Amino acid sequence: MTTTKKITISGGFHNASEITIRAKIDPHGGIVLSPAQAKRVGNHMCGVKGCICGMHHGWEIEGSDRGELSEAFNEADVKSFLNSSANR
Ligand SMILES: [Zn+2]
Repeated sequence: MTTTKKITISGGFHNASEITIRAKIDPHGGIVLSPAQAKRVGNHMCGVKGCICGMHHGWEIEGSDRGELSEAFNEADVKSFLNSSANR
């Protein structure tokens, strides 16, 4: 049984090059990212301090889908990367 899956992300607002992570598959559905993984992806996709591009905007995702990935991001507790989707 596979417990991880490879996800490749590129593009986005800053047109980032590809980054590949091995996400844990959640037995209850979806995937799980560690805070370190989420941070790594966040820094790769947007290294601009204070940028409010919204991170997920225009990402090219291989091996996962947008909903699954953004849920994993939320659960990884990296709120500082998600400020544009917060209620304000
Ligand atoms: Zn940005």
